[in-house]
Amino acid sequence: MTFSKGYKIITSMSKYIFVTGGVCSSLGKGIAAASLGTLLECRGLRVRMMKADPYLNVDPGTMSPYQHGEVYVTADGAETDLDLGNYERFTTAPLSKANSMTTGQIYQAVIQKEREGKYLGRTVQVIPHITDEIKFRIFAIGESPDVDVTIIEIGGTVGDIESIPFLEAARQFRHDIGRENVLYVHLTLIPEVIGGELKTKPTQHSVKALRELGIQPDILLCRTPVQMEEGMSKKIALFTNVDDDAVISAYDIQTTIYEIPLAYHKQNLDSIAIKKLGIKAGKADLTQWEKVVNIFKTADKTVKIALVGKYIHLNDTYKSIVEALFHGAIANNVKVDIVKIDSEELEKAACENSSLDKLFEGIKGILVPGGFGQRGIDGMVCAAGYARENNIPYFGICLGMQIMVIEYARNILQYPEANSREFSPDTKYPVISLLEEQIDIKMFGGTMRLGNNESKLSPGSKIRKAYGKDLIVERHRHRFEFSNRFKDEFLNAGFIISGYTPDGSLVEAVEWKDHPWGIGVQFHPEFNSKPFSPHPLFVEFIRASKENEK
Ligand code: GLN
Repeated sequence: MTFSKGYKIITSMSKYIFVTGGVCSSLGKGIAAASLGTLLECRGLRVRMMKADPYLNVDPGTMSPYQHGEVYVTADGAETDLDLGNYERFTTAPLSKANSMTTGQIYQAVIQKEREGKYLGRTVQVIPHITDEIKFRIFAIGESPDVDVTIIEIGGTVGDIESIPFLEAARQFRHDIGRENVLYVHLTLIPEVIGGELKTKPTQHSVKALRELGIQPDILLCRTPVQMEEGMSKKIALFTNVDDDAVISAYDIQTTIYEIPLAYHKQNLDSIAIKKLGIKAGKADLTQWEKVVNIFKTADKTVKIALVGKYIHLNDTYKSIVEALFHGAIANNVKVDIVKIDSEELEKAACENSSLDKLFEGIKGILVPGGFGQRGIDGMVCAAGYARENNIPYFGICLGMQIMVIEYARNILQYPEANSREFSPDTKYPVISLLEEQIDIKMFGGTMRLGNNESKLSPGSKIRKAYGKDLIVERHRHRFEFSNRFKDEFLNAGFIISGYTPDGSLVEAVEWKDHPWGIGVQFHPEFNSKPFSPHPLFVEFIRASKENEK
């Protein structure tokens, strides 16, 4: 099949599956799309994943975590939607900038082409120019000869104004490349009303809204509290014109999200998709998934970890960290209980030992994640000090590492005003600062270290032992760095710097001496953890916390 329409001609052998969502948001469309990707991979198919976000921001990098949840960073440094994290955890599909698009990016590209005169005097319109730009990007993902199926998740809810151009592009896709090459999967909600009755009407309406846009779904994934009875799924099938067996219960899973592919497989989701697309595939091998779920079900010990941050009131903010802790726990045959502690509350507790003892009761490890801005910083510093003095395993990620440095400067180097220039631009002791050449550049607009960077680990350090190698590559997303002008003072006071950039210019990892496990890293290891290949730092942090009998 080929695609031209004003662009270079692309030939693609991939089949395409569009995943849309209805009734309301937050139904877990990303995990549904990722689970479908998993199942196809388990059948031996080569899959690619892509996300279309209807908002006008070019990327979520500048959005508040309260608006958007976690910003997921790809290896090539794109700041993307957190669903890309789900894709990486569930599938082996490679991801880059190209696997994420927003309305903002599409319009930016089209307007730039218009300014360059590329539309040869024509009126530039949503159809065909915006929809062509969308289709071109989707096609480009499936273009590679080693792709069997490309799955595109369309963000938002059918019926929203914003997502219409993406849905129109999805509709045209089938027309452009043939019925047998495109599949539409729609995720909807079957709510439970008072008295416990399940209601199908919102689903019927949502499919109707989709059909008004010219898309007849082939498969429905229905979010329900429990598995639907046959009568109900047949009724939905009849009213929505979907085959009986293609109405699937996406029921609430009581164990872990990693059981979702198994639940879909039991209802033949993979076979139905494969059959409808007319592709040949092998037998499903889901043993790895079964193993993860089984460990979770049978683990009898639970390790309590405190996550100390300022965005704890929203579930999705630390998504990748929460998942990586889960992976680390599975590797240690334990369950993890994550206790979210608001760093501002800690600040109010005034860092007094008696209140901290109460707050951290039963906690076996403390993790301070990444973040921006001053709010709650002193509470994090106090959590780090408490972990250091009480021999509690501590894991500092990005901001969490900078907090370790600030705490050490305040309490060991005896510089009570020590701070990061991010929070106190005029501090006399800027132990964390912008690089000299960055200092005059405004806070926003470039200068962020993003994506993969190499670090060299110091021999004999705990981090070197955890990785089992000297040179590592991890993803970054930060602006500030350890200030080298304080380096000797830190080293003389027993602070361990255990990782540098290969040229030795920037600090990448630090450790506490004579402490069971206190590690801070300037990068984001959570983006590289998967259920079957847990990140070594999370495995070791959970191991140390499990062994912390205090
Ligand atoms: N705000 C800090 C910086 O920009 C840390 C960033 C982060 O934790 N991702 O350096």
